[in-house]
Amino acid sequence: MSETMKAIVMHGPRDYRLQTVPKPVPGPGEILIRTGAVGLCGSDIKCYTGAALFWGEDGRPGYVEGTPIAGHEFAGVVVELGEGSAEKYGVAVGDQVIAEQILPCGTCRFCREGSYWMCEPNEIFGFKQGRAEGGMAEYAILPANAIVHLVDPRLSAVEAAYLEPLSCAIHAVDRAQIKEGDVVVVAGVGSIGLCMMQWAREFRPKMVIAIGTRPSRLELARRLGADVVLNVRADDVVQAVRDLTGGYGADVVIEATGGLDGPQQALEMVRKMGTIVAFSSIKEKVLVNWNLVGDQKELVVRGAHLGPGCYPKAIEAVAEGRIDVASLVSSQFPMEDFDAAIDAAMTADGVKVMVRPSGLDA
Ligand SMILES: [Zn+2]
Ligand SMILES: [Zn+2]
Repeated sequence: MSETMKAIVMHGPRDYRLQTVPKPVPGPGEILIRTGAVGLCGSDIKCYTGAALFWGEDGRPGYVEGTPIAGHEFAGVVVELGEGSAEKYGVAVGDQVIAEQILPCGTCRFCREGSYWMCEPNEIFGFKQGRAEGGMAEYAILPANAIVHLVDPRLSAVEAAYLEPLSCAIHAVDRAQIKEGDVVVVAGVGSIGLCMMQWAREFRPKMVIAIGTRPSRLELARRLGADVVLNVRADDVVQAVRDLTGGYGADVVIEATGGLDGPQQALEMVRKMGTIVAFSSIKEKVLVNWNLVGDQKELVVRGAHLGPGCYPKAIEAVAEGRIDVASLVSSQFPMEDFDAAIDAAMTADGVKVMVRPSGLDA
């Protein structure tokens, strides 16, 4: 009889089940971890609620393959090492580790060029049965193609799980190439925007302006170092940014609102020859005045996807207390209460909801 474990298995939209499944055994180059915490994010909600991107439509397949275990924002402690993986990763049983969310194929054009985060098949933990099972389980396999990082033992389980979205935030901010003295707007104060804002401070900007809709999150933004907070529901944010910059606009705008109006507002509030980083994932197609990019402002517009090369920076920043992610964890649930956890993630109150597969005090 093989050993078993509890896991949240994805069967379809709004059909995620707590099941007893075989406890995986690590093969060559693989690591088995005991999962400490798993974050829920916007993409988990989109998947849970049935977005076509994940489940397909009109006969086209979606991103989800089979019935995988959910969860891509997770970390844990090494409990078993497959053949060769101790040497390969420099880790031992008992170490806290995290794998980057993407499992690069290693053979496509982008992997071969070193741009593994753009890997053509783009396989992320928690969406592919058998190849990229998620972390919403007592134990999880980090496959042989995972990019594994040793996590500083000063980080708690939830801080370790937060490294995934934090790395995405760091990459997006790094793409902006902020210069000392810049005025930086972070539009969107979700679980990633609130990290972007903190990382932006590392570049010694003149001013960080946080823009959001929820007063509780804007208050958090102020507490975590935003110089100015603007509520898009109460303020004319474009005019406010112009007023704060002598009429010119911000040097850098990082667009992380996830809203339909975010991109046009970013184009309007950035100065001529300024930089916009596009991070949002927006459900519908967005309409913008494209003339602002070229003819009128000669802007730099950069995209940002995942957190390549950023995990070590994220680990160090949290360990040294330069970035506070613990304050962003608004609630934690045992795996048995997954339905309550996803409900909490879908309501407006909290910032980051975590599930604790090994128990709340593991
Ligand atoms: Zn995520
Ligand atoms: Zn690839």
